[in-house]
Amino acid sequence: MKYIIYLTTWLLSVQLSFAETPKNIILLIGDGMGLTQITAARTALGQLAMDRFKIGGLALTHSSDKYVTDSAAGATAMATGYKSYNGAISVDPENQQPLKTILEYAEEKGKKTGLVATSTITHATPACFAAHVKKRNQYNDIALGMSKSGVDVLIGGGRSYFLAKADTNSKRTDEEMPLKNFKECTFAYDYSTLSKIGQTDRLVALLELEHLPPAHERTYSLSALTQKALSLLSPDEDGFFLMVEGSQIDWAGHRNNKEYLLSEMRDFDDAIGVALDFAEENGKTLIIVTADHETGGMSLVDGSLEKKEVELQFATGSHTAVMVPVFSFGPGAESFGGIQQNTNIGESMINFWK
Ligand code: MG
Ligand code: ZN
Repeated sequence: MKYIIYLTTWLLSVQLSFAETPKNIILLIGDGMGLTQITAARTALGQLAMDRFKIGGLALTHSSDKYVTDSAAGATAMATGYKSYNGAISVDPENQQPLKTILEYAEEKGKKTGLVATSTITHATPACFAAHVKKRNQYNDIALGMSKSGVDVLIGGGRSYFLAKADTNSKRTDEEMPLKNFKECTFAYDYSTLSKIGQTDRLVALLELEHLPPAHERTYSLSALTQKALSLLSPDEDGFFLMVEGSQIDWAGHRNNKEYLLSEMRDFDDAIGVALDFAEENGKTLIIVTADHETGGMSLVDGSLEKKEVELQFATGSHTAVMVPVFSFGPGAESFGGIQQNTNIGESMINFWK
């Protein structure tokens, strides 16, 4: 009888560990997206793709040296599982040495990897997954690091940091040309070209010299970029890691601009919908949606569900220390429920695959 219990327990644990390890992970980061940003968007739109999540949590976002984090320390925590100082791009606070990222763990597992952002791809959030530098404004070093990182799909802005100095559009001051380091890659420098690219192993789509246009001025959506990345990454039988960032939710918060905020939230939420559609169909994909911090100290002081209107007030033009939401879906999703440090996101993803 005792042995039967042992055997059953063992079989259960084996089954559980199989069931809970995702083959693919999609991490979607709304930069500066707090609960108020989500509530405002939900009121304005009536419903959100985010409504589909059944597991939710909250993350504490402080960095190793500041109560109020910046995007660099925030993304370092999510990419590596360690807290570091504001400005750090996946380096530790003591010696400023590289901390291994979930993207690098994925590569070691033979998985495909991708980064999609609506800022320059060298900006703090995406940078923390595929580069290691001491200060977030070292864009040239970040571009160089990314070009050597082995990342398979890059979609965003920031082409000027990847061009040789001789190019009039280049922002580089050294003799490097990061674009040359991408081997056997398909390149796209505008959306029309990108949209025509079929199946390819590696893609570098740097659609602007600097940031992508804000959502309301862009002719293409973050969800279309996400769909593209998924179509390129998902055929790999070893699985993939993909990070998608709604980069400009943060900038709308910095500017205390309601219309900008709502259009960025809609753009980001649509991308979440694309990821959820993929994961529901696929069955082996973990999705995590979260933020690095809240921006603007935004509060909802009035509104109307019928008229889909919100009245916002902002306490600051900077970031705040309030906890941010974490939504998860798919195998392993329960690891992200409840109140947690932002490092739990990186640590838990890495534990699945290390
Ligand atoms: Mg960002
Ligand atoms: Zn910010």
